[in-house]
Amino acid sequence: MKDLQPYLDKQKAYFQTGTTKNVSFRIEQLKKLKQILVDNEDLLIDEVHKDFQKPPFETYATEIGLAITDINYAIKNVESWSKQKSVSTSLVNFPSKNFIITEPYGSVLIISPWNYPILLALQPLVGAIAAGNTAILKPSELTPNTSSTLERLLSQSFDQEFLKVVLGGVEESSTLVKMDFDYIFFTGSTRVGKIIMRDAAERLTPLTLELGGKSPCIVDKTANLEVSAKRIAWGKFINAGQTCVAPDYLLVEQSIKTEFLDHLKTAINELYGDHPKESPDFPRIINDAHFDRLIALLEDGDTAVGGEHEKSSRYIAPTILNNITLEDSIMQDEIFGPILPVLEFESVEECIQIINARPRPLALYIFTSDQATEDRIMNTVSFGGGAVNDTIAQLGNHHLSFGGVGASGFGSYHGKSSFDCFSHKKSVMKKPFWPDVPIRYAPYDDIKLGLVKKVLK
Ligand code: NAD
Repeated sequence: MKDLQPYLDKQKAYFQTGTTKNVSFRIEQLKKLKQILVDNEDLLIDEVHKDFQKPPFETYATEIGLAITDINYAIKNVESWSKQKSVSTSLVNFPSKNFIITEPYGSVLIISPWNYPILLALQPLVGAIAAGNTAILKPSELTPNTSSTLERLLSQSFDQEFLKVVLGGVEESSTLVKMDFDYIFFTGSTRVGKIIMRDAAERLTPLTLELGGKSPCIVDKTANLEVSAKRIAWGKFINAGQTCVAPDYLLVEQSIKTEFLDHLKTAINELYGDHPKESPDFPRIINDAHFDRLIALLEDGDTAVGGEHEKSSRYIAPTILNNITLEDSIMQDEIFGPILPVLEFESVEECIQIINARPRPLALYIFTSDQATEDRIMNTVSFGGGAVNDTIAQLGNHHLSFGGVGASGFGSYHGKSSFDCFSHKKSVMKKPFWPDVPIRYAPYDDIKLGLVKKVLK
């Protein structure tokens, strides 16, 4: 493996020149990034299709388009985000001026996964650039076509002392994580997230972990079942279920379960027809290991829809598994594929118990028309983010920050949150030399203590 240290050394030296702190420089780089996406839209769509047959519509709508929106928003706002902000003083520090200087961390490392290979590489990068950092990006080795094209396009437009793409897998990634970066932004599995955090801890490198988990989706009897089924089928089977915020499992109120499953069946048929394998809109599983893992899960419960699969093309039909129990293997880990297990409940309290007995999920979805049920879930269940009466679409709003909690990760980004994620807030107080109030200085006495007690209460 090539020695990667010189890339970071060069970036650190470049950061020290102060160039990246200049707001016009940042805007110029963001514009370049946008231009790459605009000029190479078709090429990128083809590359992702080569990697796992992702439909062009989805690559644009869920990757290129979202990245461009985020870039536009950053270009428009980075100047005001970067300004020094004045804040009030406190009585003990009167008179003084108090302000917060937003500064870039320095040289950051971004490690991205394969499932949205453009968006999840570039969206953190937008934040890193907007905040004034240099960056090394390590995209996933599981999407070789997309990753190598990103490397080629970015290296043509950016100096590597500012932005460098390192291709490779575990070896490169592990080496990078042990280097002296000023910030690490990792998107991937909880298992690898733990390794990254351990390595980062050695140097106390601050980090964001965008991980996965089992995201529940609740449907109660007050929901519009037809619309709910369409939105759930869309959110589950987009990208063939290989989406970190896809509904992982369904909790359906017992009294409407049969009717709801009929609606789901219809919704899947409307999306992909009688033969989803022939549909140009349904992707494939990323590799054989994931294919084998998913096929083993098909043993659980009763197949209500789908179940067909073909190893040679890594195709698994959109599948609904009914009569699942919490003990089934499909309920143990994140599914990350086109299989939706269905469990039933009688009361919302039962749902809360099931969800709260597990690690805190990245997303939660609830379909209901009952405000009290919605409030009860929102007030008792902790999750990264989610939606009421929809799935996944919340990611299309850059005013909503995105990130996990507990085992689904920590830190957040998107829109202004991306800028904040890659910035350190330096708080400063500035005092005049006069007056120099003597109360804080020893020797202390009861009068001083009395005064302090009056002020600090
Ligand atoms: P992964 O954790 O296997 O790999 C992610 C990245 O880490 C890749 O670039 C890979 O090269 C690198 N890596 C792998 N093993 C490593 C190791 N031992 N040391 C250092 N680096 C290593 O994840 P994946 O399979 O690419 O993606 C799927 C997972 O990512 C799912 O769990 C999914 O939920 C999660 N995910 C989360 C989000 C989010 O925003 N929260 C988004 C997409 C995917």
